[in-house]
Amino acid sequence: MKGKIETELAFWWSVFLAAVLTAISVAIWFPAAGSASGQEHPLNSAVRVAETRQPATQATKTVALSPSPEATATTPLPHTATATPTPTPTPTATVTPTPKPSPTPTDRPTATPTFTPTPSPTPTPTPISPQSKAFRLHPDGKHRVAKVPILMYHYISVPPKGSNRIRRDLSVWPSRFEEQMHFLATHGYHTITLEELALYLLEGKPLPPKPIVLTFDDGYLDNYQNAFPVLKKYGFKGVFFVITDFVTGRYRGYMTWDELKKMADAGMAIESHSRNHADLRRRSYDYLVWQALGSKEAIENHLGIEPRFICWPSGKYDRFAARVFESAGFWGGTTEIQGITQDSAHMFELQRIRVRGSYDLKAFEWVLENVR
Ligand SMILES: [Zn+2]
Repeated sequence: MKGKIETELAFWWSVFLAAVLTAISVAIWFPAAGSASGQEHPLNSAVRVAETRQPATQATKTVALSPSPEATATTPLPHTATATPTPTPTPTATVTPTPKPSPTPTDRPTATPTFTPTPSPTPTPTPISPQSKAFRLHPDGKHRVAKVPILMYHYISVPPKGSNRIRRDLSVWPSRFEEQMHFLATHGYHTITLEELALYLLEGKPLPPKPIVLTFDDGYLDNYQNAFPVLKKYGFKGVFFVITDFVTGRYRGYMTWDELKKMADAGMAIESHSRNHADLRRRSYDYLVWQALGSKEAIENHLGIEPRFICWPSGKYDRFAARVFESAGFWGGTTEIQGITQDSAHMFELQRIRVRGSYDLKAFEWVLENVR
């Protein structure tokens, strides 16, 4: 009996305790629920206002302090962490993003100047020579005519005693040649190569004022000995047509590959006058290919440059020869037709002015002014 009463008492005691506990927990619960549903608890709102103000003032402080780069990195964060009240973790989240951007802009301006100097020294494109293998012609198809004198020389030397009329006619004395070059230099002429003439006729690339081409046929040794030094003296360019089978040292009186190389390196143009100076009219395709490619490859092998022009031997050519030379990569050819009218539709019939051995300076001037 006694044990039963004791257990009943224990039961009711525990019920009472449970009731008291639930009453206390409900009393605690209600104020928190009220703040969540609408009106904010005055204490909470006061804390939040204080927190929202704090980041703003602290952010401006860090910006003002930022000039010293070492200080900005870590200092703002501990201050805001300790200042905020313990209960809510949100303020630290809102504060941290704002100071972070400030270190990066201060670092960047100092970093960029070190990188900028490097790109400036790079632009140094060297122009490709028109006689270089890599050079490509891009004709635009327009028809152009240019009045450009192409002077034709052969020997630049005093002819040996007993020379016949033809040899005397082909020989310009070195003193006269010097006089003529001096005249050109003092009268505004600008020497150009045949490649430069072709680039005007075929692509419209502008020419200098009073352009003139100086050509030398046959590759005589006196060209190297007597013409080359004078051309260098005046800063002139010459165009030398060589008979490639004769440039071997086998025949006396012709320039060698070594001499031609020195001239090419000094800016002179070396072009083809065929392999052996044969008449190229009424020839077979194979024969013309042999003349065109044979002379071209000899010059290319020995001098590392590509001839672009054929000087028709003794001025003799026909349409078929011109077509074969063109297919072999030649840009044009020079004739012995007297004139200065150069035509993009007749690249293999460029006109020239013969400079005769008998011409004194007066005659030279007259020819330059009157041949049209
Ligand atoms: Zn010739």
